Amino acid sequence: MLKYVSYDIVFQEVPGEVTLALNLSGCPNRCQGCHSPHLREDAGRPLDRAEIDLLVERYGRQVTCLCFMGGDGDPAEVARLARHVRRISRLKTAWYSGRMPLPAGFDTAAMDYIKLGPYIPSRGGLDSPQTNQRMYRIVRDGNDTPAFEDITARFRRNPPGA
Ligand code: SF4
Repeated sequence: MLKYVSYDIVFQEVPGEVTLALNLSGCPNRCQGCHSPHLREDAGRPLDRAEIDLLVERYGRQVTCLCFMGGDGDPAEVARLARHVRRISRLKTAWYSGRMPLPAGFDTAAMDYIKLGPYIPSRGGLDSPQTNQRMYRIVRDGNDTPAFEDITARFRRNPPGA
């Protein structure tokens, strides 16, 4: 069972989107210099379809995207809940994973955006030119095999070519 400890409406986590970000607990990763150690605990409210219904009902008109921040303990459930978001709303869906590569068999088509990679202090976050993390937009062009467009550079203040 996924759980979440908090949520917020944010503007920078997913480029071009106003995002309802859900902070999931139970993170199984152990990044050195973890910026959110409280998310490694088993804490918070259960996140199931009924809870998603409530959040989308309350905030769905204020945002364009719903992002699962974490959930590496059960990626398949993250994807199932993202599919549910799609069924009940027009919101885009995003997932912030602290791992790389994507788990085998992950339902990529459930997402519009996927961020991959652990946090490494010496490399910095998505806005660092040295970052190991990647943000992808999932491109569906009519066939069943989504493509990954790397949009990590959009997090930098002066992206190449800007
Ligand atoms: S993915 Fe890494 S930085 Fe994020 S909560 Fe888990 S251990 Fe911490």
